Amino acid sequence: MFLRDGGPPKAAALDLGLAALVTLDDGEKVDHPRLLKKYGARLAGLQRNLHRKERGSRNREKARQEIARLYALISDVRGDALDRLTTRLVRENQVLVVEDLSVASLVRSPRGKGRRRKAGLNRAILDASWGELLRQLRYKCAWYGRTLVVVNRFFPSTRQCSACGVTGPKLDLAVRGWSCGECGAAHDRDVNAARNLRVEGMRLYELVASTLPPGRAMPSLIRASEVPDVVRTA
Ligand SMILES: [Zn+2]
Repeated sequence: MFLRDGGPPKAAALDLGLAALVTLDDGEKVDHPRLLKKYGARLAGLQRNLHRKERGSRNREKARQEIARLYALISDVRGDALDRLTTRLVRENQVLVVEDLSVASLVRSPRGKGRRRKAGLNRAILDASWGELLRQLRYKCAWYGRTLVVVNRFFPSTRQCSACGVTGPKLDLAVRGWSCGECGAAHDRDVNAARNLRVEGMRLYELVASTLPPGRAMPSLIRASEVPDVVRTA
């Protein structure tokens, strides 16, 4: 690798999930800001209230403003919690590896009657948290001269054993831990995924680093989908 200080860069990989908002490859788990628990019922109530009001009425407008205020509050609380997390991660690491956000489609609606509205809210709040997390990582990496590596979403990070590299069978979302049938390693589902992400992210990082002309700084964003182009034009 071609790094100014010669050593391997400090790096962290983030697995985004439901059980924990973020799981780092060193095993640390960062909880979701408890937004849904705190505000979900109130938001659902306000929305039901809105739909009961007559179209074009003053009361409907008031209900709409109340919802807007609650959304703004949720957004502030979320932003503060994520701000602390992303600042710490960017300060402590030279490279941060994340999965493409479209992986968030892994969030499935719970089955059963009457759960769709809640699932929808749940989903909206989670999506917004992940989106905000990546947005903050992206601009802070640029600001602090760090590199954010976005790994391709088809990378089998969950099913692959981070100890021996064998790809296991598909895991149900409810399965939080598993043992590798090949090497016997016991894995926490999310930590294993984060470790695999780190390996793949660092592979891409080094690929780009190796093609960089001398004196050129590493880009603040590396996308797996764009790496072949970067390599070809370098
Ligand atoms: Zn294994």
